[in-house]
Amino acid sequence: MLFSRRSFLTSGTAALGAAAASTCLASLALTHPTVGLSCLHTGRSCAIHNYNGSLSSREAKAFRSVARDWRANKVYGMDLRLVAILAGIARKAGTEDTYGLISGYRTPRTNHSLTGTASGSLHMKGVAMDIRHPRPLDRQLRDLAISLRAGGVGYYPQKHNLFVHVDTGRVRYW
Ligand SMILES: [Zn+2]
Repeated sequence: MLFSRRSFLTSGTAALGAAAASTCLASLALTHPTVGLSCLHTGRSCAIHNYNGSLSSREAKAFRSVARDWRANKVYGMDLRLVAILAGIARKAGTEDTYGLISGYRTPRTNHSLTGTASGSLHMKGVAMDIRHPRPLDRQLRDLAISLRAGGVGYYPQKHNLFVHVDTGRVRYW
């Protein structure tokens, strides 16, 4: 016998303790999730660790850098409440995967050069992002975003360019 009953009991208790600790860590992670964002066009990425409702100036700078208009290479004062939306989705989904960013800030010039964009797009005001997430699936991503009631949510299920639009404007869905 490799273990005496006593040491077996001790290690069993230790295992239980470890399980309790990891559950505790998991719920902490959900309360203050790490929010990762990676621009799918430039490969720039940032991570806000243990998001608690506010960003340090360094984190805000990194977030805005990632969400720049990559076509015009223009950084803008993106609305930081967008990070709260990403964190809200992560909390509800129970995942901390990195979001793929398809479009963040768009200069009026970039916006007008693209087909299918609204002339008054909130991307030009720095309050909108088009995102993708491997888990949850994008339809769930949309539903989770809608459940936050934090702004607008648009669903674009194109076969090769599926994404969810989120913004901090009026609560509305399409
Ligand atoms: Zn959009």
